Amino acid sequence: MSCTTHDDDYWDYDTPSEWQKHFPSAAGLCQSPIDINTHRTIARHYPPFVFSDKYHSNELFKLINSGFQVTATLAEHTYGQSEKDLWFIGSGLPGRFYFVNFHLHWGRNDRHGSEHEIDGHRYPAEAHVVFKNHESDQIAVFAYLFFVTNQTQKGNKEWEKYCDAASQLTTINDTIQCMFNLSQLMQANERQFYRYTGSLTTPPCTEGVVWTIFTSKIAIKEESLNKLRQNVMRKVYRPVQPLNDRIVFRNY
Ligand SMILES: [Zn+2]
Repeated sequence: MSCTTHDDDYWDYDTPSEWQKHFPSAAGLCQSPIDINTHRTIARHYPPFVFSDKYHSNELFKLINSGFQVTATLAEHTYGQSEKDLWFIGSGLPGRFYFVNFHLHWGRNDRHGSEHEIDGHRYPAEAHVVFKNHESDQIAVFAYLFFVTNQTQKGNKEWEKYCDAASQLTTINDTIQCMFNLSQLMQANERQFYRYTGSLTTPPCTEGVVWTIFTSKIAIKEESLNKLRQNVMRKVYRPVQPLNDRIVFRNY
């Protein structure tokens, strides 16, 4: 996920091992993403997520090409919509977490693209939906892994829309507005996940981020990913970092 703007001159996705020269946190012991070894995860009970009403309706978002990814934030001054109305509580996280942005990570081809790996397996893309508790400044990120559809399967319509809109943003700072339904984008009925504490996956790679990686994969058409690869950026992901002595939990 990304929350940075002014530090952007000092890093790129071709040399992630150099990030620590300008961003010392990148060399920390609790970095993200990681490879999740499912046999070593520990089962734990978490209370359910509760999402606000606005989460289920169509809202207007603004997509921007930041030079590192295409980030969607809630569009301003429209229909009285506000980040204050998009939130969740529950799932063992203290307090109310407000929506910040969503974005996608992808790779040059279908063999790469996800940031997290499951048992050493990479996926062609990974979506992040970023939330923040404004009282504690705690950041929580939901991560979704993708698979490329075959001819008989349909892709997720919301992510197809994202790829279509994002692929028009060929130059840094280009923006476009588009309606999205967060609950469909996030497959809200999905409830199985992995949970661990890591970091932002872009500089400054600040630690203390709570990650929730959902186990169910989202379908996407190859054509949608190709539009991003050809028109926006070729690769947008950080490789996996050492787990060290952290524990990854699962809620099932
Ligand atoms: Zn991200």
